[in-house]
Amino acid sequence: MITRISNTLSSGLSTVKSSLEWCQDFSVPTWVRKMLPGGMAIAFLFVQSCSALASNKIPLPRPRPIEVSPSTPPDKGIPEVPSACQISLADHIAIAPIMPTIREPGGCGGEDLVRLEAIILQNGSRVSLKPAAVVRCPLAKAIAEWVRDDIAALAANVGVLREINIAGSYECRDRNRASGERLSEHARANAIDVVGISLRSAGPLLFTDRLASRDLREKARISACSRFPTVLGPGSDGYHEDHIHLDLLERKSGYRICQWNVLSP
Ligand SMILES: [Zn+2]
Repeated sequence: MITRISNTLSSGLSTVKSSLEWCQDFSVPTWVRKMLPGGMAIAFLFVQSCSALASNKIPLPRPRPIEVSPSTPPDKGIPEVPSACQISLADHIAIAPIMPTIREPGGCGGEDLVRLEAIILQNGSRVSLKPAAVVRCPLAKAIAEWVRDDIAALAANVGVLREINIAGSYECRDRNRASGERLSEHARANAIDVVGISLRSAGPLLFTDRLASRDLREKARISACSRFPTVLGPGSDGYHEDHIHLDLLERKSGYRICQWNVLSP
């Protein structure tokens, strides 16, 4: 009888020891281990609860961070070879560093882009765009030629041309910033908003200022409408009362829009 009890206790102790070894990995408290030789029931209960203790002790692996799929990144590739337009601009016509192609969600973006910073007049002086405009090269060239060939001469009657004041160029948005409208030509880097010009000593001259030289504004309108297929200003649609929108959108049959009312006081 004593031998049987001894064997049972020995077997139980062996089970408890192996459980102990297992539990040591989980940092079981010393006072708990001391209780084990006292009986199988306690040992069994301990083994049962060991995993529960362990689950409280073991540091769980850190949850994997939630992966947020990034929006389509803009294509930052700068063309290896400048376009013919970019080369022609750099040839004493404008300061227009090449910009990387832009591709943004919603069809926004464009290629053959430049940052039009200044136009070099025929006398070699520079006329800065404030701020610089991000546009497709053909539009940059059209603006440069408009300023070099027409605006500079008009400005010479009232002062020395110093700056072209810009209200907007590339921007990913719908027409007139109205949701649901068609994509603006600004979103294709094919449009620019011009506020006016600044003259050395004479200061700014806004194209939509009723008090500014009407002759200059009228001739600037005729010139713009002969060069750009879209010209929108005061009287067009209510969105262009304080600037002139110019773009190079090509339409069927060569249809052009020239809506710029030169207003008097
Ligand atoms: Zn515009």
